[in-house]
Amino acid sequence: MTPEAVTGIQFEEAPIFERGAPGRSGTSASTLDVPPVDVSRALGSLARKAPAGLPEVSEPEVFRHFVRLSQWNFSIDTQFYPLGSCTMKYNPKVNEWAARLEGFAKLHPHTPDHLAQGALEVMVALECLLAEIAGMDGVSLQPAAGAQGELTGLMMIRAFHESQGRSPKKIFIPDSAHGTNPASSTLNGYESVGFPAGSAGVVEPETLARALEGAGDAVAGLMLTNPNTLGLYESAMPKLTALVHDKGGLVYGDGANMNAVLGRARPGDIGVDVMQYNLHKTFTTPHGGGGPGSGPVAFKKKLEAFQPSPVIVKRGELFRVDYDRPKSIGRVRSFFGNFGMMVRAYTYIRELGPEGLRAVSDLAVLNANYVAARLSQVLPIAFSTPSLHEAVFTDRELEAETGVKTLDLAKRLIDYGFHPPTVYFPLVVRGALMVEPTETETKQTLDAFVDAVTAIVSEARATPELVKGAPHNTRHRRLDEARAARQPRLRWSREA
Ligand SMILES: *Cc1c(COP(=O)(O)O)cnc(C)c1O
Repeated sequence: MTPEAVTGIQFEEAPIFERGAPGRSGTSASTLDVPPVDVSRALGSLARKAPAGLPEVSEPEVFRHFVRLSQWNFSIDTQFYPLGSCTMKYNPKVNEWAARLEGFAKLHPHTPDHLAQGALEVMVALECLLAEIAGMDGVSLQPAAGAQGELTGLMMIRAFHESQGRSPKKIFIPDSAHGTNPASSTLNGYESVGFPAGSAGVVEPETLARALEGAGDAVAGLMLTNPNTLGLYESAMPKLTALVHDKGGLVYGDGANMNAVLGRARPGDIGVDVMQYNLHKTFTTPHGGGGPGSGPVAFKKKLEAFQPSPVIVKRGELFRVDYDRPKSIGRVRSFFGNFGMMVRAYTYIRELGPEGLRAVSDLAVLNANYVAARLSQVLPIAFSTPSLHEAVFTDRELEAETGVKTLDLAKRLIDYGFHPPTVYFPLVVRGALMVEPTETETKQTLDAFVDAVTAIVSEARATPELVKGAPHNTRHRRLDEARAARQPRLRWSREA
């Protein structure tokens, strides 16, 4: 018996198409009590010429097959997932209970307003909570992801400028930004202008002022992530936002890292005009294959008229869906967005309350700093500026000494049962390894993780080939990363 067989996880699994037997079925339909239809006559040339070649399997065969496959998955429900910049925190099960309540889960999106009052009320209540947490005046729940929230916010900025008879073209973005920032800006017809963050990893007012100076009246806005993708707090924020406002621009705040500042700092109080939340990061709704995202946009009063349509409003005692929004940028998502995620986030916020949310951020920062303090004894940390919810390390010394790189270390971590941290991001750090432990992990888990990295660094010194060949305990050994990304074979075919 192999070790895998003992744990019940087998790494050899024939595809479903190679299972079963002709005529086997997992269903038992009752006999036909209506006249049979001649399919080829009814469908004409659209009718199939040959059977579809579907698997013929029993229910237990199907069920066991997919449960076994699911056991190969890495998930937040099974292991530590310290993916930097992604806030992969545990998804509390009470959220799942709430989202599965029949009145929410089975509500048809075309249900008339007066029969969907509970759902509309939950959305409005969530909007109010998110507005308060951000220090903003309004929220639209429509965007289905953080990146779509960015696009939506930039569309609102553009609509605002146009309403003033202006069409400035440039959005300023520091080089530490998440790749979605320049992408959203470009997709929205803006020119993305990069500028360097300072040597301490944060944006310096002088650098921004110099960048803005050359742009004249073409400054449409600034996109800034705070805390930034290095886990550092942009301490000059009020100065930076004032510089942009002086040039007639607006400030877009990427709120993907709100987990670090909940109840401690509000973007709206430090000059941000519009921002997105990532409910699937900060507010524990599942992501990374676990569920759809949700990227609500929070905005100041001056942008209110431009928010996506429709908007839920309260008239008297009733919640109504208002489509009469002449200045709106229009719809960005079908119906109301990913409603199930809103119920989960609402549940989470209401369960924790203001004190609980503050504790979330305090513990997220404490955990990240604990990992930083311990891990910086084996890997150099990229910036000595005190960090918030995540910490970035570099392979500089390790590679020079042993030839082992960040990618090797990340792959070897899989053998130790940990999901690799984010690697080679942000781009401004050489061989970056970015760890975001989140508040949901215990000291024991963090210690086990640091011990694993420490062990791998020792292996790199003693037997570098072992680390360079990792992973060793997985179904597939190391993939050709370029081919896996560019020529993925994701579909079974008879010929292959
Ligand atoms: C995750 C993230 C995004 C994008 O969010 P998605 O929901 O993945 O589209 C944008 N900016 C930052 C800083 C992020 O961490």
